[in-house]
Amino acid sequence: MLAVTERAVTSHVGTPDAAAESRRDPFVLDVRSLSRRAGTMTETHRTVTTPAKIGGEMIAIPENSEVDLDLRLESVTEGVLVTGTVCGETAGQCARCLEPVDGTVSIFLTELFAYPDSETEQTTDADDVYRIVDDRLDLEQAIIDAVADELPMSPLCADDCPGLCQVCGIRLAIAEPGHAHDIIDPRWAKLADKFPAAEESGETSSGEEPGAGS
Ligand SMILES: [Zn+2]
Ligand SMILES: [Zn+2]
Repeated sequence: MLAVTERAVTSHVGTPDAAAESRRDPFVLDVRSLSRRAGTMTETHRTVTTPAKIGGEMIAIPENSEVDLDLRLESVTEGVLVTGTVCGETAGQCARCLEPVDGTVSIFLTELFAYPDSETEQTTDADDVYRIVDDRLDLEQAIIDAVADELPMSPLCADDCPGLCQVCGIRLAIAEPGHAHDIIDPRWAKLADKFPAAEESGETSSGEEPGAGS
């Protein structure tokens, strides 16, 4: 509901609302300046703040973090061709030891956004080729898809991360060398339970209880 109100305001006034709009939809670019003449080109270099997390469970560009857009927008017959890089810092967790893993991700975009009424627009599915709507193109889905392709499914803090001890859960990278546990075979566990009891009864039968003398 709020978005509808704001949009109505934006269409009437200029720059301050354009800035507000860019904060809300940082990946939406206005392409009116390209005036639909093939060969026209413009570049955009800007740093935007992510409105939501971009990436997966294990590693992502977090919400409210800065992303640099370094893009060239070129008018071609069928639409606007966007090429360039998108960079951001990532935060994640090592898939083996769960320690934080920080890094950067940089993707290269090459995406065509079809003009309304272009042949491409009429002959392709909206899921296959992006569209220009109201002289704007929205890079968000293209960025989400490219970042998902680029980030590892299982990020690691180090290529040789030894992970966690299966028994006690300690990080093996900080455990003593050769960290291990004596694992009792379940078939012997019952016997081990009985063993201390046998020892106690042996002491009692000797009649000399240590500490009873005082
Ligand atoms: Zn690790
Ligand atoms: Zn352990």
